[in-house]
Amino acid sequence: QKEIWAKLKNEPTVTSDGISVELAANIGSPKDAAGAVENGAEAVGLYRTEFLYMGSDDFPTEQEQTEAYSAVLKAMGGKPTVVRTLDIGGDKELSYLDLPKEQNPFLGLRAIRLCLERPDMFRTQLRALLRASVHGNLKIMFPMIATLEEFREAKALFLEEQTKLAEEGIPFSPTIEIGIMVEIPSTAVMADQFAKEVDFFSIGTNDLIQYTLAADRMNENVSYLYQPYNPAILRLVKMVIDAAHKEGKWAGMCGEMAGDEIAIPVLLGLGLDEFSMSASSILKAREQISQLSKIEMAAHSEAILSLATADEVKAYVEKLL
Ligand code: PEP
Ligand code: MG
Repeated sequence: QKEIWAKLKNEPTVTSDGISVELAANIGSPKDAAGAVENGAEAVGLYRTEFLYMGSDDFPTEQEQTEAYSAVLKAMGGKPTVVRTLDIGGDKELSYLDLPKEQNPFLGLRAIRLCLERPDMFRTQLRALLRASVHGNLKIMFPMIATLEEFREAKALFLEEQTKLAEEGIPFSPTIEIGIMVEIPSTAVMADQFAKEVDFFSIGTNDLIQYTLAADRMNENVSYLYQPYNPAILRLVKMVIDAAHKEGKWAGMCGEMAGDEIAIPVLLGLGLDEFSMSASSILKAREQISQLSKIEMAAHSEAILSLATADEVKAYVEKLL
C-alpha cells in the first residue's frame, strides 16, 4: 500500500475516466508547507493564518506576516496557495485581543465580522499578503462570509491596500484570486449571486455542517446531528458547485469532509474541482480517485441527492465502493 502511494506522490490526480481534480493540503504554519509537498499536495487549499496570531503575544507585524506568507509561497514553489485571512473568535481566542464576552461566540463577532470591525488589523494582513504575493501563486480567501455586502467590503479594503502599495512602489502580484469560504448556509443558498463576484469558493464543511444542522461541532451531546452525509449538506454543496461552474469559477472544499472516503466519490460526482485535506490523507485520496469514474459517479448524483437520510447516503455509497 505504502509503495503504491509513494509512486503517486508526484503524479497528478486523475479519475479512471481521465478527469483531473486537484488534491490540496490544509496547513497551519509555514513549516507545514514542505510536509504538504512531501505528501503529494498539488496545492495548499487552506492556510489557517490564525495560528500565526495565536502563537504570539501581540499582533504579528506586517513584516512578520510578510515573511511567514512568503515562506509558504516559496515552499510551494509556484503551486496554488490559498491563504485564509484571520479566522479568530468562536473557539479561537487571542490573549491580546479584547473580544466582547458573548453568549454564543460561534454566532458572534468572529472571523470576517471581526476583521471588518477592526479594519486596522485586517489591512495589515492584506498588505502583508500583497507584499508576499510576488513569491508564488497566492489566492486569498475570506472566512465566515454570510452576505455579499461583507464580501464587497472585504474586497474593497483589499483593493485599497493594493492601490496604496502601488503608490508606494511596492511590488505585488496583479493576478491574486479572491475567494470565499462557504461555511454559512445563507452563502450556499446565495451562491449564484456570489459566483458573479468571487473568483472561487471553498466549502468549509466543518462549520457548514454545524450551522446547517444547528449542532455545535464540539458538543458531544448533539454529535449525532453532526452529519456530513446528511442530504441537506450534499444539496448545499451541489448548489455551490453548480453556481461556481455556471460563472466559470472553481469550487473546492477544505473541511474534513473533503478527505473522507465515503464523501469523495459523491463530491467527485457533484463536480468538486479541488479537495483540500490534511496532508497525510492526500496519497490515499489520490489512489481512491484514480479508481473512480467521474461520469459514473455523476450518474449516481441524482439518486444520492434524493435520499432521505445520512444513513441512506452512507449505505448507498458503501454498496458502490
Ligand atoms: C471549516 O469550517 O470547514 C474550515 C475548514 O475551517 P475551520 O475548521 O478552521 O473552522
Ligand atoms: Mg470554519
